Amino acid sequence: MHSDPTSGSTALPLTPLNEVIDIVMSRVPGPQTEDVPLAESLGRILAEDVVSQRSLPPFRSSAMDGYALCCGGHGALSGSTFEVLGTVAAGATFGDALGLGQAVRIMTGAPVPPKADVVVMVEQTTSHPHPVSDRPDTVEINADVAHGSNIRRAGEDIKPGELVLHAGAVIDPTGIAAAVNAGPTSVPVGKRPRVAVCTTGDELAGDGEKLSGAKIPDSNRPMLLAAVDAAGCIPIDAGRLGDERATTERGIARAVAMADFVITTGGVSAGDFDYVQYVLGDLGWSQRFRIAMKPGKPFSFAVIEGTPVFALPGNPVSAYVAFELLVRPALRAALGSSAPFRPWAQARFADDRPAHHDGKTHFLRIASLWDDHGLLVKPVTGQGSHQMAALSLSNGIAALESGRDVHAGDLVPTLLWR
Ligand code: AMP
Ligand code: MG
Repeated sequence: MHSDPTSGSTALPLTPLNEVIDIVMSRVPGPQTEDVPLAESLGRILAEDVVSQRSLPPFRSSAMDGYALCCGGHGALSGSTFEVLGTVAAGATFGDALGLGQAVRIMTGAPVPPKADVVVMVEQTTSHPHPVSDRPDTVEINADVAHGSNIRRAGEDIKPGELVLHAGAVIDPTGIAAAVNAGPTSVPVGKRPRVAVCTTGDELAGDGEKLSGAKIPDSNRPMLLAAVDAAGCIPIDAGRLGDERATTERGIARAVAMADFVITTGGVSAGDFDYVQYVLGDLGWSQRFRIAMKPGKPFSFAVIEGTPVFALPGNPVSAYVAFELLVRPALRAALGSSAPFRPWAQARFADDRPAHHDGKTHFLRIASLWDDHGLLVKPVTGQGSHQMAALSLSNGIAALESGRDVHAGDLVPTLLWR
């Protein structure tokens, strides 16, 4: 068996996942920021609050297509008649104040003329053209309309100095609209960290190489590069490292030099060629764990020259679950997110499941659906940590604690990644 003077690998106790998360999160560097044009800001994380520079609407405006009436500070009564002085389209203005008993035809969003105190919608009016062509038409009101109806006050949406978007929030389409309204044309966001991914294993076929002998495809690297991208960071392919201590060390040192974070897979458990965990110790500060969870138990975390390194297990399902639970939150925090963790929610479990008693939390890959009673989660067939096909048919995990008997319909904590 491979040995390392500082290892003692088999003696490692199980560590609860939350403790490992705390250790990782406490060593994540804070976000760096850059300005991006609003049009390119979708999905980025705001580095500062966005405060409005102006009022919106900027003026009193009509909420309806209809007539703006001057009622002398009162509402309009059904049966009353007003003289129509003209039409205000959206984007146009009618600057003259109306006199008592006067009206303008007005479109939604157009400025309400001075002294108009009611807008009545066109459906509640009857218009009477004047028999003489150049004399004003009149409009008859067919319903009682309260004072102030259908008029949007200036600043009813936002006022100067009001908070529009919070620092740490993800910019979504509605956030882009809110920021456009507030005034800025660019926003400060968390800079996207560069995240290098390298895999280990002599059994992995080279990129583009045909499978033969005991080779298997390297599915972890493209999976994690995509996961890094989906998490909002810049993926860097740092290649495949063989199962040899010196090349592993060189490869990891190279990855550290070119990235803000490094992710490796494989070589962190008890195999004869599992060098990654020991190489990390040689290169910088590192800690090895057996996390009290399945899949994803073997894990090493290092900080080498300021760069956090996540050494995930080689089994692809373990690698992905560990990415979701340990790496993604760190990357989101480094982007400046105020909510780096995906939420856990209670969902109904679809099956009976006898308790396990190994002291680990089992994260079963599940497929979820909404039914009349809420969210229902069903474990996918193929819960082995090598069964990638089942993982891709799942959209999250349900957490089953050691010692807990679960019956169909019981609520279980569930995390959905899709
Ligand atoms: P290891 O953690 O290196 O002992 O690998 C555990 C299992 O995961 C083995 O069956 C490996 O063949 C498999 N494995 C390791 N790395 C990868 C990878 N990049 N893609 C697919 N399978 C892998
Ligand atoms: Mg290996």
